[in-house]
Order: sequence, then C-alpha cells, then structure tokens
Amino acid sequence: MNDEIPDEMWALVTGTFEGEVRQTNSAYPEDRSVRFDWQRIHDAQPDVAEDLLSNPRNTRLKLSKAVHTWDAVDMPEVSVRIHNIPDERIYRVGKLRTRHLGTAIGVTGEVADIEPVKPFATMAVFECRRCGTLNQVPQQFGPMLRPVECLGCERSGSKSDWLFRRAQSELQDVREVELKRLDTNLDDDTVVLKIRLKEDLVDRLGPGDEVSLVGRYDSGAFQNSSVLTTYLDVWAIENHEEGVLMDELPPGELHEMVVDEVRIQQEADASDFGANREDVLDAIEDEGIRRSEVETALDEAIDEGDVDEIAGEKLMVAE
Ligand SMILES: [Zn+2]
Repeated sequence: MNDEIPDEMWALVTGTFEGEVRQTNSAYPEDRSVRFDWQRIHDAQPDVAEDLLSNPRNTRLKLSKAVHTWDAVDMPEVSVRIHNIPDERIYRVGKLRTRHLGTAIGVTGEVADIEPVKPFATMAVFECRRCGTLNQVPQQFGPMLRPVECLGCERSGSKSDWLFRRAQSELQDVREVELKRLDTNLDDDTVVLKIRLKEDLVDRLGPGDEVSLVGRYDSGAFQNSSVLTTYLDVWAIENHEEGVLMDELPPGELHEMVVDEVRIQQEADASDFGANREDVLDAIEDEGIRRSEVETALDEAIDEGDVDEIAGEKLMVAE
C-alpha cells in the first residue's frame, strides 16, 4: 500500500486497532480522533511502543500516515491519540528535566491559564509579488518563515515581496494553556508548564481542571535565551473530569440556569427560607458544567441583582 510505512505500523492500524479506526471513520468528521492504547501497542508491537516514547514525533507521524493512507477508511484530518503510557513516565509539573526533552511523557497538573483558540499555519503559502508564483513554506511555532527564494523568478526578497495567502495555506486550531502543579500553596513560586492543544482538543480543558496529559515534551524552534523555553505538545487527555465549556453554551444560558436553579430550590421547600448556595452549585455542576464557571456565573447574577444573597449563605431570586 505504501512503502514508507513499516509492516509493524500497518499491522497496528489494520489489525490491532482496526475496530477503533473503523469506528472513528464512521463518526468522522464529527469525531476526529482515533485513540490507541499504548499498552496494547506494546503487547502487539513492542518496538513501535518503545519508539513512540523515545522518538515520538516520527513514530507518531508514521502511524498517522498509515491511518491516512489506508484505503478502507477516509478521514484526511484525523489525529492519532496515544494514551495509557507507562506510569513511570508520568510526572508532575515541575518534575521534568532536560533528559525528557524530545520524548513522550505524561504530565499531571491543574489548568491555570487558558489562551483563546488561534489559527496556526502549519504550511504557509506566499505569493511572490514580482511574478505571482505561490511558494509553500512549512512552519514551526514562532516567527513566520518566508521563502528563501521564489520558485518562479528565483529571486529572494524582503518581507514586502511576499503576500501571505491564507486560503491556500494549511491552518489548524491551536490553544496554549498553562498547567500548574496540583496542591501547591506556594503563591509566589508557582511552577507552570506551557502546553499546546491542537485540533479537536482545543475545547476540552478549562481553568481549574485537574488533568493528566500525554504528549511530546520539546523546546520551541525559536529561542531567545540559552535557557530554553519548553512545552508539551498534547497527544491525549487522560483522567479528566470532562465538563461542558462556557464556549459551548450560548451567552447568557449559564446565567439563566443559575437563576432558574435558585428559584427551583427556594420553591421546593417552603419551610426553608431561600436556596442553599452549595446546593445550587452542586445541582448545576451535576449537569456537567465546571464548578468554577458556575460560581462565576452565580456571583455575576448576584452582582447584577438577579439573585439576592441573604444572611447565612441563602439565595433568593430577586423579584
Ligand atoms: Zn517570483
């Protein structure tokens, strides 16, 4: 089928994980991830499993290629997500060392800060303003790289000689998130790790989430200091209590849910004056919404005067 892909990879994609691959294919494009359990890879093809840990970028690329080129399925934009790596490769934020760079690891921590989703050009196309030729330049995270010289007129040029063509470029969603150590009370010296979520993972984490992530630990291609900045390129999210993100709720809906829940609880028990704050938070959290976001929405409802706070942590809908 494809000479570049080793037999062991084919065996994994079309044999060991055939069920997973076909299942994602039938749910594609809504589902854009196919998950491979590392322990099962190890049972079937131990060398591939070891290569995934020690040479993660290339090995995962080949596995992805096998999925993309298998003619029994058709999902050009699917991502291969490796999870369940060995426990001894899972670290807390702050415990990563130089020797881990370039390898696949797991990291546990709490989501501290989350950036907006941005389009990242993995392959940028530039039109030469002198001859009109389109030139492709693969990109890494960091400053935009421009063509060294034009494929058409063979001239190099300054920034103003190149026109970025978004429509012809390959873009993917990317989101940068900061992970901090769990259970740290040290306000001053908080250790954080920058992580990068791509494609369908961008909406899956929110502030306060406690997560275990699997991915490739690396330094960026562009460095301003000899002390390198590092990041985790996330392959998979594990051990994560998935909540609904605010992004997925229409504006105002969470606000309305909070006010409604207060009304329901204050009316449910006429002998009890008002609704209990904790009970209101619990009820909405049970709907699958992150507690920190419910708290924020409740505080806003109080600030805006839709809910009154009464002595003793009781809540009532303002009339
Ligand atoms: Zn040119």
